[in-house]
Amino acid sequence: MNWENNVRKVVPYTPGEQPKCGRMIKLNTNECPYPPAPGVKKLLESENYEDLRLYPSADAGELVEVLAEYYKVKPTEVFVGVGSDDVISMAFLTFFNSDKPILFPDITYSFYPVWADVYKIGYKTKALDENFRIKKEDYLEPNGGIIIPNPNAPTGVLESLDDIEEIIKSNPDSVVMIDEAYIDFAEEGTSALSLVEKYDNLLVIRTFSKSRAMAGLRVGFAIGNEKLIKYLNDVKYSVNSYTMNRPSLVLGVEAVKDDEYFKATLKKIINTRERMKKELTALGFSFPDSKSNFVFATHKTAAAEDIFKYLRSKQIYVRFFKQPRIDNYLRITVGTDEETDELIKELKSFL
Ligand SMILES: *Cc1c(COP(=O)(O)O)cnc(C)c1O
Repeated sequence: MNWENNVRKVVPYTPGEQPKCGRMIKLNTNECPYPPAPGVKKLLESENYEDLRLYPSADAGELVEVLAEYYKVKPTEVFVGVGSDDVISMAFLTFFNSDKPILFPDITYSFYPVWADVYKIGYKTKALDENFRIKKEDYLEPNGGIIIPNPNAPTGVLESLDDIEEIIKSNPDSVVMIDEAYIDFAEEGTSALSLVEKYDNLLVIRTFSKSRAMAGLRVGFAIGNEKLIKYLNDVKYSVNSYTMNRPSLVLGVEAVKDDEYFKATLKKIINTRERMKKELTALGFSFPDSKSNFVFATHKTAAAEDIFKYLRSKQIYVRFFKQPRIDNYLRITVGTDEETDELIKELKSFL
């Protein structure tokens, strides 16, 4: 009768809606509006289904090798997981194991407090300033670890590499994770990857879900000092050795190989983002400058929730967070040019 007293109870993360209606414009979960690299399609068609009876490689070696080569690090400095959600979850379990609280911003990826709760890790959130920027002094107090997304979600704000470096440098006794889910949409030279050789407490986390158009495949990875990666693998092999399925490994490799397609896709999205910023501004919206593939916008007179409901009635899905400080904002993913035109047209007619 009392077994429920012993259940590990959690309030789960709420993912964005994945509606199943035909004609819709989906700008609510920051997916890429363009397909993955063409080579992925070819391989998908020729993949030998008989191979599926065999276990995949437990160390994801083929994908680790390709990522190491691409990012100019050693294979022993790369960890691959089932989307960056899996990578971050494993990293929380591995590295956030102190009696001091971990630190992250108050407005950020809403999965962080959920992982902290499920693993019983104490945490403290640090308020972003009125421009949604991190106050780096907040991260200089004693802590059991730090996670900061850069650019941040849902704000799109990019913090300077100098500030990020100061936080890493000032916390030699904690692991500092920089979640770079959106860094490919920012300028070159803004990634903390360049600091991996310098700081052994830095773990940089990336995903194929946004910039590489492969959210459905579930591939994420982390790059860090080989000691960190070894600890991460020890925990992974203690939970589930075969996290990556065969198709994900093979198709992931193919995606990384086609750098020309990758860069061209990024360029298209960034161009559309810059145009979207102009159009939104002209309609009376304001937003922190976005270096990601979404814009976090608020309107001078119309309430975000009303706009959200109106767009929904027109089959345009954006993200609205009913949370303190951000409940008058909409997070709008950058779609194709046509989708953006449609969005702007509907916003005009609502306003
Ligand atoms: C989307 C997202 C992730 C997770 O993406 P995966 O699909 O699990 O790779 C992680 N962090 C942030 C900040 C994100 O926005």
